[in-house]
Amino acid sequence: RTVYVNGDYLPETEAKVSIFDRGFLMADAVYEVTSVLDGKLIDFEGHAVRLKRSLSELQMAEPCSKDELLEIHRKLVELNGIEEGLIYLQVSRGSDGDRDFAFPSEDTKPTIVLFTQNKPGLADSPASKKGAKIISIDDIRWGRRDIKTTQLLYPSLGKMMAKAAGCDDAWMVEDGYVTEGTSNNAYFVKGGKIVTRPLSTDILHGITRKAVLRMAAEAQMVVEERLFTVDEAKEADEAFTTSASAFVMPVVEIDGVTLGDGTPGPIAKRLREIYLDESRKAAV
Ligand code: PLP
Repeated sequence: RTVYVNGDYLPETEAKVSIFDRGFLMADAVYEVTSVLDGKLIDFEGHAVRLKRSLSELQMAEPCSKDELLEIHRKLVELNGIEEGLIYLQVSRGSDGDRDFAFPSEDTKPTIVLFTQNKPGLADSPASKKGAKIISIDDIRWGRRDIKTTQLLYPSLGKMMAKAAGCDDAWMVEDGYVTEGTSNNAYFVKGGKIVTRPLSTDILHGITRKAVLRMAAEAQMVVEERLFTVDEAKEADEAFTTSASAFVMPVVEIDGVTLGDGTPGPIAKRLREIYLDESRKAAV
């Protein structure tokens, strides 16, 4: 693989970052994951805008312009021959060669790293045809989940708890209400109505969420943004999640309770189709 680090395109074995980098020492870093279909970027604009916001919320410098970012993404797709897959981008506050809780001086350069993940068959994945089994777990993350930081230890533990329970993923619950999945936004459907938690600092403002809600409205589907409990979701006709890496993923089981007939629901399937179709057309 050819990867990108601080201005250079290098073989992955030659790419280097300081051990003092605050991304490494303190998870003082933000990231984005953009999907690639037909060799093109899905919703690059959305990811670029959210990256800018994450950086700004943490008073971190922008490592390059949006145009340069687009060029780097495109070049990595080309150099690595990606038709379907993902591009991971991380920007950290960098380092001034020591460890300190206080930020390093303003002229410290941020560290920017990008790499591709080749995933043939991503759009047509067997997992999306089967649907996901979900467990619910407490949400014990920090309070600024709207900033896409690399503090992913708890979501990672959540994924492992799901695996240990023979499931695929976990939805997190705070004060009785579902916040989101470990790496996706959460929805259920009841009586034709799509319900999802409203945007706040409690959840990541999913780029896929925004697109899917727009497309659902355009397809005359009814969307309600409100808090909901796991019990409500368990009694739903169907459920699903959205993310850049799995698009629209049907959910077929929550805490051992089967939804509908245990296969992906019609609304989730239709939204997945619409999302893939429209995103492909708009890809850059
Ligand atoms: N929520 C969390 C906690 C995530 O980590 C992610 C994606 O990584 C999402 C939601 C979905 O966001 P997006 O659609 O921008 O990928």
